[in-house]
Amino acid sequence: MTPKDYMERESKYGAHNYHPLPVVLERGEGVFLWDVEGKRYFDFLSAYSAVNQGHCHPKIINAMCEQAKKLTLTSRAFYNNVLGEFEEYVTKYFGYDKVLPMNTGAEADETALKLCRRWAYTKKGIKDGEAKIIVCENNFHGRTITVISMSTDPDSYGGFGPFTPGFIKIPYNDIAALEKALQDPNVAGFLVEPIQGEAGVFVPDEGYLKKAYDLCKKHNVLFIADEVQTGIARTGKMLACDHEGVRPDILILGKAISGGAMPVSCVLADDDIMLTIKPGEHGSTFGGNPLAGKVAIAALEVIKEEKLAENAEKMGKIFRDEMNSIKSDMIELVRGKGLLNAVVIRNKPGKTAWDVCVAMAEKGVLAKPTHGNIIRFAPPLVITEEQLREAIGLIKEAFKQFE
Ligand code: PLP
Repeated sequence: MTPKDYMERESKYGAHNYHPLPVVLERGEGVFLWDVEGKRYFDFLSAYSAVNQGHCHPKIINAMCEQAKKLTLTSRAFYNNVLGEFEEYVTKYFGYDKVLPMNTGAEADETALKLCRRWAYTKKGIKDGEAKIIVCENNFHGRTITVISMSTDPDSYGGFGPFTPGFIKIPYNDIAALEKALQDPNVAGFLVEPIQGEAGVFVPDEGYLKKAYDLCKKHNVLFIADEVQTGIARTGKMLACDHEGVRPDILILGKAISGGAMPVSCVLADDDIMLTIKPGEHGSTFGGNPLAGKVAIAALEVIKEEKLAENAEKMGKIFRDEMNSIKSDMIELVRGKGLLNAVVIRNKPGKTAWDVCVAMAEKGVLAKPTHGNIIRFAPPLVITEEQLREAIGLIKEAFKQFE
């Protein structure tokens, strides 16, 4: 089959809910991907930051294969011999009393919202059904109905109503707006991405997270961090909140907690919050399965063993310096933290972010535009300086084509 055959088959039999770059991939290793014709690419998307440890990391794949031969799923109707091991490992790793395992990021966000509301009714004393949660404009927390009810992006919510009530939307990176919204005594939580990834890698002002956290404490409101994209070393620290010494009351993780091997997500919190949900009140058939447990432990070990946070910090600086040195009137702005970066493109006919991504793919670098004019650059965190400099050379060649 030719690449065209593969693409046409997807288009014929699959829902049209994505618009992929015209590349058909069949193999991955570390920072590299290969297409069905054997062409090699640098992966600068990392499956939206799920593959921080690199494609098919041998330690993660080995853990997966070994566990897959023994036991994959029991459901939570019974105990299994791996779940407790994972729970102990992940809670000690991030410093929380308890974890609630789920599968996808959106599910973990939904879990955090339920936990926050339940805490509001049983601990804060808000009247049942009246809790509100503050969220930020241009957020991205996933695709379920409740999650898109928090969205301000018409592509996400348009035509999918009616929506879940109980959210207050304020501008991101705006402490005054947060302070004002917190005056409402029915506010139970503030849900925030430490860097807005899908919105185009918006990095808030230094000090924003700490000030927001302190305000939440003052008003007895839970500070809930969605670190599904920013967590697990992506931004140069284990968590993006670590840059400001903030410990969220509820921490949401997904994506790279499995190194991209399978869907694993979780919510971490202390007993005071987590134990407000009782048996039978929340769960998931696959959440906490032994396969996910072993994969996640291996994926988290790799982060520490290979010092990937430190590498992300170092490589990110090189990347931004090099991108800032490109003399192109197409580049409006370079921003990011660690290896979560974006280049904002001045779109002109025939010179759009999409055209740049197609040109980069031809050169052997895969990245994808978000919101029409922003290209995110987020390679696996295992990238070496030599690999990074080679990829930057290819990116520069691609930009040159548009001069
Ligand atoms: N939260 C954030 C911050 C994300 O970036 C994403 C996905 O991009 C999600 C949640 C949703 O994760 P999932 O696609 O696994 O549901």
